[in-house]
Amino acid sequence: MREEQDLLLSGLTTMRVGGPARRLVTAETTDELVDAICEVDDAEEPLLVVAGGSNLVIADEGFAGSVVRVRTRGISVETAGSHALGSANCEVLTDAGSSTGANVMVRVAAGEVWDDVVVRAVAEGWSGIEALSGIPGCVGATPIQNVGAYGQEVAQVIAQVRVWDRREQRVHVLANADCQFTYRHSLFKARHGRYVILDVLFRLRRSALSGPIAYADLARDLGVEAGDRVPLDEARAAVLAQRRRRGMVLDATDHDTWSCGSFFTNPVMSTASYAALEHRAQARVGAADGPASAEGPVRVPRFDAPDGQVKTVAAWLIDQAGFGKGYGLPGPAALSTKHVLALTNRGSATTADILVLAREIRDGVHDAFGVSLVSEPVLVGTSL
Ligand SMILES: Cc1cc2nc3c(=O)[nH]c(=O)nc-3n(C[C@H](O)[C@H](O)[C@H](O)COP(=O)(O)OP(=O)(O)OC[C@H]3O[C@@H](n4cnc5c(N)ncnc54)[C@H](O)[C@@H]3O)c2cc1C
Repeated sequence: MREEQDLLLSGLTTMRVGGPARRLVTAETTDELVDAICEVDDAEEPLLVVAGGSNLVIADEGFAGSVVRVRTRGISVETAGSHALGSANCEVLTDAGSSTGANVMVRVAAGEVWDDVVVRAVAEGWSGIEALSGIPGCVGATPIQNVGAYGQEVAQVIAQVRVWDRREQRVHVLANADCQFTYRHSLFKARHGRYVILDVLFRLRRSALSGPIAYADLARDLGVEAGDRVPLDEARAAVLAQRRRRGMVLDATDHDTWSCGSFFTNPVMSTASYAALEHRAQARVGAADGPASAEGPVRVPRFDAPDGQVKTVAAWLIDQAGFGKGYGLPGPAALSTKHVLALTNRGSATTADILVLAREIRDGVHDAFGVSLVSEPVLVGTSL
């Protein structure tokens, strides 16, 4: 276990903002991770778990407690009788199923880099996560907000999540159904801080072909119909190309990627709220600050969501409320010049700068459409 004092947290986050941590401990094995957490909890100190830092906005004042950085490693194919990674208070695994002809069960330590796992899956012919190519961060964070992109979500392929339960001081194995996965949400987000994810067991399909291409733009790029399957490497390449166009692949030289990805989630609402939104959007046509085009009815993006609800698109609302690409430039914090949903650090932004911009956009969208945008990244020591 490596320990450092007074390290700037901006260096650990992709937004590159955030003040110092009183103490930073780096855990490289699962046992070290559990030991580090227990030590902080026994001392009754505040704890912040950091992995890839790609979904974190930390206050300029920093974090007055211990930060535990997850750097655990290990990818193993589960066969009947194989054991979980590490040995910390380990429970015997049941019911996960082992690899069969059609499926492969792959257990991955929390600190593995997510995109490295996707690369491995594509190379091995394990289908089910290729559309999640290029998402920054580590495996242990993926169940927390049920990461998703281009029609796939990790919830579709997670069999189990093995966690350290800080309240009960023991390891638990949660089956997929226990994780309460919904759009960008899970039990782990709802019970923020209680569970530290140790490893994740994925159930992937043995196939050289991708899952059905669910995203129209992606299908167009690939020259196929929505619902078709393509070779895994082609799906990955097409996803990465789309993501790069939107500034959603990390690139140290490109300030459009100094972000947390999407800063706001897509709003999910009742059909009555959606009808009110459509009405507001229509009323804005022709108004001085209204949508740019007054030709024909305004089509507010609409997708079916579970329980009869409707999902609309945060980027559309932001753009239509008058916050276009690059809004905020030449300031230190601005919208990406490639995608309005990413709030970016142009090089010298502080957390305060990012939050001023975030509040302006949230309030502007609310004034225009009556919709309250919800931030996606985890805010530490600060709030919107
Ligand atoms: C350019 C860019 C593009 C992105 N695109 C997408 C996208 O397409 N889809 C998407 O869903 N997200 C996207 N994101 C967001 C982000 O990459 C994901 O949420 C990712 O899973 C975060 O992983 P991380 O390891 O960086 O987590 P961190 O930022 O380190 O942590 C995020 C939260 O998880 C907690 N945490 C981390 N590891 C553990 C653990 N082992 N146990 C318990 N808690 C833990 C932290 O305490 C924190 O609360 C994007 C981000 C960027 C910067």
